[in-house]
Amino acid sequence: MRPLSYARATDVDGAIAAVRERSDAAFLAGGTTELDLVRQNVLRPGLLVDINDLPLNRVEDLPGGGLRISALARMSDVAQAPGVVQRFPVISQALLLGASAQLRNMASMGGNLCQRVRCSYYRDATSPCNKRDPGSGCAALDGFNRGHAILGTSNTCIATHPSDVAVALVALDAVVHTRGPGGERAIPIDEFFLLPGDTPEREHPLEHGELIVAIEVPATPVAGRSVYLKFRDRESYEFALVSVAAAVRMADGVVVDVRLALGGIGTKPWRARRAERSLLGQPAAEASFAEAAQEELAAAAPRPLNAFKVELARRAIVRALVTLTNGDER
Ligand code: SF4
Repeated sequence: MRPLSYARATDVDGAIAAVRERSDAAFLAGGTTELDLVRQNVLRPGLLVDINDLPLNRVEDLPGGGLRISALARMSDVAQAPGVVQRFPVISQALLLGASAQLRNMASMGGNLCQRVRCSYYRDATSPCNKRDPGSGCAALDGFNRGHAILGTSNTCIATHPSDVAVALVALDAVVHTRGPGGERAIPIDEFFLLPGDTPEREHPLEHGELIVAIEVPATPVAGRSVYLKFRDRESYEFALVSVAAAVRMADGVVVDVRLALGGIGTKPWRARRAERSLLGQPAAEASFAEAAQEELAAAAPRPLNAFKVELARRAIVRALVTLTNGDER
């Protein structure tokens, strides 16, 4: 049995100081993933600092049309916030397609961004896994990797990033605001998620004791016409095999603004910049969408068990763009 201490923080600076004090301390928010991993001996903190009493649960509309989501806002509250539903439907849809209603009531937005991978080798606490035990190897490379990533992989890790809402936030250029021992930082969300490279154990640029305090989404008019599509083995309480966050604006039948990000296939929420570049200025037509998808997926590095994801992702991208543009050329 391992000793595990618990403390409850009442203010942000106190929470940061408590975690900084011990190298084996960690923040505890909703706990919907973290506590499972502690029980399974995958994470081994010596102290959990509960931050649920911190005043970080607001969802605010910003002047000019942006959005500020405090880190402890619950997934369910964000999904229902009028400003989110009206101006950023892709965020609301991504949240509602994630987890279960009970989990969405518990899970915080900051915790969602920090959730650990669902790779079964990582979670069994015994298989070789470079992410859990750096240098031990990767059992998934030649193992059961049907759900693993095809973009952003390395020869040390091919685990898929599990979040849905992070995919929508990446599409919309959100910014992660943190506070830590070095003061406050604003990290563009695409830089917040790190590729595995040679250090798969490092998933974020956060220092020990650095706390996410909010996520800001800039005013993004194109997001008013946006959608999140998720394809998975069953229709609820399941992770994506492929997902697409898309937003499109057209003029005279031509794409003049587009945001596209992919989930379920990348080692991080995947901004499809090649596809976006390919689409700009093209007719809002299925042929252009298929070509853009093809360009994005040219970099895919599938393994035999997950090769189906390439075609599934191509079709998913086309489906999302057709859904947003069909029969309407505004
Ligand atoms: Fe570990 Fe990544 Fe390999 Fe899974 S894919 S076993 S998380 S190193």
